[in-house]
Amino acid sequence: MDNVADYKELVEEIKTNGGTAVKFCYQCGKCDTVCPWNRVRTFSMRKLIREATFGMTEIESEEMWRCTTCGKCPQRCPRDVKQIDDMIALRRMATEYGVFPPHVKPIRAVSSGLAAQGNPFNEPRATRADWAEGLSVKPFVEGMDILYFPGCYLCYDPRLKKVAKATANILNKAGVDFGILGTKENCCGESVRKTGNEALFKKLAKENIKTFIENGVKKILVSSPHCYHTFKNEYPEFKANFEIVHISQYLFELIHEGKLKITKDYGKKVAYHDPCYLGRHNGIYEEPREVLKQIPGLEYLEMLESRKDSMCCGMGGGRVWMETLKDDRFSNLKLEQAISLGAEVLATSCPYCITALEDSRLVMNHADDIEVMDITEILQEVI
Ligand code: SF4
Ligand code: SF4
Repeated sequence: MDNVADYKELVEEIKTNGGTAVKFCYQCGKCDTVCPWNRVRTFSMRKLIREATFGMTEIESEEMWRCTTCGKCPQRCPRDVKQIDDMIALRRMATEYGVFPPHVKPIRAVSSGLAAQGNPFNEPRATRADWAEGLSVKPFVEGMDILYFPGCYLCYDPRLKKVAKATANILNKAGVDFGILGTKENCCGESVRKTGNEALFKKLAKENIKTFIENGVKKILVSSPHCYHTFKNEYPEFKANFEIVHISQYLFELIHEGKLKITKDYGKKVAYHDPCYLGRHNGIYEEPREVLKQIPGLEYLEMLESRKDSMCCGMGGGRVWMETLKDDRFSNLKLEQAISLGAEVLATSCPYCITALEDSRLVMNHADDIEVMDITEILQEVI
């Protein structure tokens, strides 16, 4: 076993890199009983914490990269061990040493794209606002009510562009005074921070904050729970505080204030998947459900594992950029649960979840059995 350092050095390095609580672990194993990895293969957070405590971490191993930061084990841990912070601390060390196991290597290209173009796909910055062509979406100017920040997936990914368009159509229909920053916008930096690249996260965050301030932004509407989490809980580390609203909260507000009228029926059975960074990490459970339940004809179905027990799609913690073997994808299980519930549509409100679930639909040959939709796409059809 190659250790990066002796006991003292490793524990110090974990501390320096933001992980603190490994020593509190008393090896009860509750983390392993709730971790979604153990639904698809053997994985032990308990073992990773034990190895870190004794300076035995194998820095080149793939295991410490598996955690999707879903938040399930921290809510069960009796000793308040900060498993997510500890894994990120280890990843920061690996990033510093430039040690990436084979399935993790794609994050190097992602980091280059982020550094050069402000997006993980290495697409030209100049095309960031192309999704909005022909939709009467204005550039954001000071004094507008709200900045709409679609995030990288919705700006560049062909599937997710449909969600950005649906959002813009809904906002226009409700008469919202909004604009976009387009090419001036960077990735929020959430996923790359989880892969241990702290320097790149800070660069992206500082540039975004500067742009928001220079453009007089006060309130930001986001589509991704990952942007929501970062802007709301992590950008304040840079003394930047903006009002952050997730689209599910905003739609709920627009409907309840009577600004958005639902005029049609939606005669389908719809189940809702709670994204980890909307639900467990930020406590937003009711608004997306309430939006769906307001739609006449829609038969709402509750997933067996929902709200704080929701099973992760597998894409958080930077896993979205890593390779996950077909049989190791949690989203396959999630999709099959929705199908056995009788759902015709599995709705959610996160670009990573949609990407994972759409992929499972194809890989599992379920394209004819169920649709995967963002709540904005459903709402767009009934207003
Ligand atoms: S649940 Fe907490 S205390 Fe128990 S093994 Fe896991 S990290 Fe350690
Ligand atoms: S945060 Fe989620 S994925 Fe990570 S170890 Fe805990 S339960 Fe598993």
